[in-house]
Amino acid sequence: MTGPVAIQFLLCPIVLVVLMFITAPYGRHFTNGWGPRLDNRLAWFCMELPAVAVIAWIVLQHPSAQQPIVWIPLVFWQFHYLYRTFLFPALMRSSRKTFPGVVVLAAIAFNVLNGYNNAHALIDPHRAEHSIMELNFMLGAMLFWSGFALHISADRIIRQLRPTRSDQYGIPRGLPFRWTSNPNYLGEILQWTGWAILISAWAGWAFALFTFCNLLPRAISNHAWYEARFPDYPKKRYVLIPGLF
Ligand code: NDP
Repeated sequence: MTGPVAIQFLLCPIVLVVLMFITAPYGRHFTNGWGPRLDNRLAWFCMELPAVAVIAWIVLQHPSAQQPIVWIPLVFWQFHYLYRTFLFPALMRSSRKTFPGVVVLAAIAFNVLNGYNNAHALIDPHRAEHSIMELNFMLGAMLFWSGFALHISADRIIRQLRPTRSDQYGIPRGLPFRWTSNPNYLGEILQWTGWAILISAWAGWAFALFTFCNLLPRAISNHAWYEARFPDYPKKRYVLIPGLF
């Protein structure tokens, strides 16, 4: 395991503990007092752009980029991050919400580290010994795309709860919300777990674990927020993982 990957693993418990006490102050949990702010959509674009650029910059300069075991996962990654960087903010419905600059800076730093680590996992010389026809790649790819489908379908349902240019909140309903308050987060966690399985590298596991540690506390805060705001919020919904939690 390289030093930067070890740092990413170290960040996981720190992020989990900090976010259990301090809910990241954006979106429905926004609070004043976090310094300068950016427009919501611009913030998402700035946060996610390094995730598109860093991995592409490193991998595409490397001769191994022509091997399917390298470029196919890169395409998977870019598919997700092009959605998150361009489409997600473009489709987002809100009036003129703002986002704390400090959260944007933290996300940029994380995306640079994570992009660097996963790029180096993809161009690792040992990857040439593997193929996309191996079981771990196929199972990981299935999980990756199932997670992607889950989180974009949940993002879509949430988006449609709101008229354009409004900040109104509603109770999301429909298949993915039947059992959990946060299917978008669950989809994201499944997706990056699939990624870790398909690339079979510490960098992938560091990202999957980080995603879990980052999103679990927010899922708890979101669930509590729904219950406090909507007296008729469905009682049977789990926080994150249906049947478990
Ligand atoms: P949310 O579901 O909280 O918000 C997404 C959008 O939907 C926002 O525009 C929000 O508006 C709006 N929204 C949320 N709930 C409602 C509701 N009940 N009624 C109407 N509109 C609503 O997700 P996040 O902003 O936390 O995250 C966005 C995406 O990014 C998710 O898919 C998540 O999985 C992913 N993500 C991934 C991370 C990782 O570590 N890999 C980290 C963080 C996010 P508003 O902003 O006004 O609240």
